[in-house]
Amino acid sequence: MREFVETLYDSYGQLFRIDEMLFENRTAHQHLAIFHNAAFGRVLVLDGIVQTTEKDEFIYHEMLAHVPILAHGDARQVLIVGGGDGAMVREVACHRQIEQITQVEIDLRVIDLCRQHLPSHSNGAYDDSRVNVVIDDGLSFMQSTAQRFDVIISDSTDPIGPGEALFSGAFYAACKKRLNPGGILVTQNGVAFMQPSELATTARRLSNVFDDWHFYGAAIPTYVGGIMTFGWATDDPGLRHHSLALLRQRYAASGIQTRHYNPELHRAAFALPQHVLQIIGKASNEYRS
Ligand code: SAM
Repeated sequence: MREFVETLYDSYGQLFRIDEMLFENRTAHQHLAIFHNAAFGRVLVLDGIVQTTEKDEFIYHEMLAHVPILAHGDARQVLIVGGGDGAMVREVACHRQIEQITQVEIDLRVIDLCRQHLPSHSNGAYDDSRVNVVIDDGLSFMQSTAQRFDVIISDSTDPIGPGEALFSGAFYAACKKRLNPGGILVTQNGVAFMQPSELATTARRLSNVFDDWHFYGAAIPTYVGGIMTFGWATDDPGLRHHSLALLRQRYAASGIQTRHYNPELHRAAFALPQHVLQIIGKASNEYRS
């Protein structure tokens, strides 16, 4: 029996039985494996770290796509950085008012292999004429593009290897320049309990660049150890304080079908535990009367 043990942490890791190995090899950028596991379905692993599974991916992708798009209210131009498995393109494409979806992914092999072995992730979204895929490093693209976006979604690997650039101050600064007024940047930011220094570093870097920044959370089973935090940055502080009535109205009007996201969760996701507020340096001011 073959097993996979995740190598994200030195002294702790989740173990999967490999019921069928579908692909395993190095790409030009990283080691890539896709296998089937009875509990989680097909699992994508990059450089020994679980990226996404068929069973629980909807929680991550719905929260990272629909929260900023519905908070914005009129997003037309959306950028996805990373996201080679295609599920973020799928979720963003559900929003009819979006005119253009640009995806900047460093590794074309991830897109191709996921379309082949993990087809439910993109679910045909790459055939949508609004989708434009650019194969490039996300930081270089952000620093050279003249395009502007209403929502930027950083659907990156962890800050190890090629993903490191997407957690840099230079990346956040470039994102700010490429956002339209009222635009929103959201980022994959790891599991707060397990990766507190990553969270603290991102909080510091976002606070250097954006007028309003915060994090919101969701528990995703295969990102083990409690809530994953998503970075949130914009020049409009009102965007994370919409009323439930407004979010309900936008959700209903969007017509999107969700399995995890709903307007109540949207609002609640911005309420963070004290220990997480301490990590991001907000426990003593914004949340005390
Ligand atoms: N949901 C996942 C998670 O939480 O770990 C992330 C999934 S997605 C597969 C991450 C993608 O980011 C990969 O396809 C990887 O190739 C891409 N990526 C990593 N570094 C990048 C960079 N500097 N520029 C663009 N894409 C990058």
